[in-house]
Amino acid sequence: MHTIQKFIDGFLEFQEQHFKHGESSFTNLKYGQEPQTMVIGCSDSRVDPALLMGCEPGDIFVSRNVANLIPPYEDDAGLHGVSAALEFAVCNLKVQSIIILGHSFCGGIKTLMRDDFNPNAKGFLAPWISLALPAKLEVLQKLPNSSSKTRQRAAEQYSIILSLKNLMSFPFIKDAIEKGTLSLFGWYFDIENGELFEYNKDDGIFKKITNNKKEHAARFSKNKAKGNVDFGIYE
Ligand SMILES: [Zn+2]
Repeated sequence: MHTIQKFIDGFLEFQEQHFKHGESSFTNLKYGQEPQTMVIGCSDSRVDPALLMGCEPGDIFVSRNVANLIPPYEDDAGLHGVSAALEFAVCNLKVQSIIILGHSFCGGIKTLMRDDFNPNAKGFLAPWISLALPAKLEVLQKLPNSSSKTRQRAAEQYSIILSLKNLMSFPFIKDAIEKGTLSLFGWYFDIENGELFEYNKDDGIFKKITNNKKEHAARFSKNKAKGNVDFGIYE
């Protein structure tokens, strides 16, 4: 109950701030939203996209799931929650950007990387996490002698690349990209060091995002960042 009371207190503060003093962040949002960006994030309690990215209400349309994964396009009668969110964002809201926001020390990817991980285990979790199985196999092949920490970091980043690839399997996303109305981004939040990395598909690596203008310009250089994946399959 203690935790729930904290949230009630939090809402009352929010209400006081946003709804009791005339103009508020919601003045232009009362009857609809027009976010220009969709974020696919992990359900992890430490990785709230709105908090990390300094967002205001109405800024981002968000879908969160275990390990921030994107399933491939499947034209069947299944109930596809993430795919429905993508369709709504791209076809209805007409967002201009989709950011896949991964992160370090991800519990979902940690489970995937366990030696005894069984993709066919009963329940919902194992089949879902298995979406990133190609990332595990790639990492085990490319980094056979690395530490488990390095391998997990690589798998976390490589699964973002896989999700970018899966985004391209959705016809409405492919169309929007070809028309130049939609851009895709793969971001990786390093919780240990408080740093953000961006995937560069030309170099096939994740580069640190900084506010240093020189480093900003070098984000697209050929220098490879230590500890980050240096192989990519994004097409
Ligand atoms: Zn996670």
